[in-house]
Amino acid sequence: MNAIPPIAPTGAGCADAPVLYERGQREVFCGLTGIVWLHRKIQDAFFLVVGSRTCAHLLQSAAGVMIFAEPRFATAIIEERDLAGLADANTELDRVVTRLIERRPDIKLLFLVGSCPSEVIKLDLFRAAERLSQAFAPTVKILSYSGSGIETTFTQGEDACLASLVPGMPEEAADAAPSLLVVGALAEVVEDQFVRLFAALGIDRVRFFPPRRSDDLPPVGPATRLLLAQPFLAETARLLEKRGATRLLAPFPLGVEGTIGWLGAAAKEFGVDEARFDAAIAPAAERARAALARAREKLAGTRIFFFPDSQLEIPLARFAARELGMRLVEVGTPYLHRPHLAAELALLPPGTMLSEGQDVDKQLDRCRAARPDLTVCGLGLANPLEAEGLATKWSIELLFTPVHGFEQAADLAELFARPLVRRSRLKV
Ligand code: SF4
Repeated sequence: MNAIPPIAPTGAGCADAPVLYERGQREVFCGLTGIVWLHRKIQDAFFLVVGSRTCAHLLQSAAGVMIFAEPRFATAIIEERDLAGLADANTELDRVVTRLIERRPDIKLLFLVGSCPSEVIKLDLFRAAERLSQAFAPTVKILSYSGSGIETTFTQGEDACLASLVPGMPEEAADAAPSLLVVGALAEVVEDQFVRLFAALGIDRVRFFPPRRSDDLPPVGPATRLLLAQPFLAETARLLEKRGATRLLAPFPLGVEGTIGWLGAAAKEFGVDEARFDAAIAPAAERARAALARAREKLAGTRIFFFPDSQLEIPLARFAARELGMRLVEVGTPYLHRPHLAAELALLPPGTMLSEGQDVDKQLDRCRAARPDLTVCGLGLANPLEAEGLATKWSIELLFTPVHGFEQAADLAELFARPLVRRSRLKV
């Protein structure tokens, strides 16, 4: 029986747990990384990074060089003479954008993506986007956001991108029947599974944001119920709530329990009764539980340490502890957004060591002292830790792989199990 679960009882789990705040040196990727999954999601959009050769290298190595397909991202390189203020960067940008749009009539939405260098020379991409939008209206819409690595972490790139789309969303009629807006880029296969589950629950006014095509932006207004699919969308959610949407309190759809809680929050809001809820989700939930059993056998009792990187750490820790039987050594997150994570914190085992922000040397010392069986961290820390004999999982892989929902729960568990299996094989 999969009853609709209660959401975030106060004082439960780690709801009121103390948090270690650290503000030191950080080891994280920048927001440009989000382009890797966003360009696959919004299929008529193009991402033009206004940055340096370093930015271009980062993107190419993260996304792989596409040889056969026309790429949907590129970097307009700011040369040294631009940095020295010797050339008019705006004129150069207009020239690059004009050439790009002439060559690529398939582009309907162009994002000018800011970077550290464009911020250093104070190139105003917001105004550039406004200027260029007027020049290319109505064929191409041009928006801007920052993917700079100054004071941000890599998943904030998606938040900034989605936030730039919110002002262009149409107004939902105030007297419209309540609609559900799922917010956060999900793999298409996952989105399709959720569409079927919501239909089985009888919730049919469901839209996803971002949409697959840029001219299909969902409407938003007081009738909109907001269900976050990712925990790193603080600014996007704030803007949507400002437009009248109501955010539903829910855990995130990672693992069986998270997915039941997430769907349950929507079911409660839309008045779905327990029997219908159970009938709609039971087959998929049962299959997912059975598929998880194999990974649980390998992982139960092992110790896991999360470095702050993707902002998925708290939902992942909840899944690792409650569904895989792993023991949490430390759960670090770049930012702890308590309102968005309230349902997750309530489900974490009491006494979990939580940390927010980073002082990388101190955190490395704690990790080395604890010698966890598995460390989830950014690419920059993984190799040194592996060399010291610790098994690691790159947190960025959790964004590149479909991990949400029932059907993907076992794949998510396997992502944790694989480094341990590989290490045990190497020992033989
Ligand atoms: S935006 Fe900044 S952190 Fe990111 S690749 Fe460019 S220079 Fe590096």
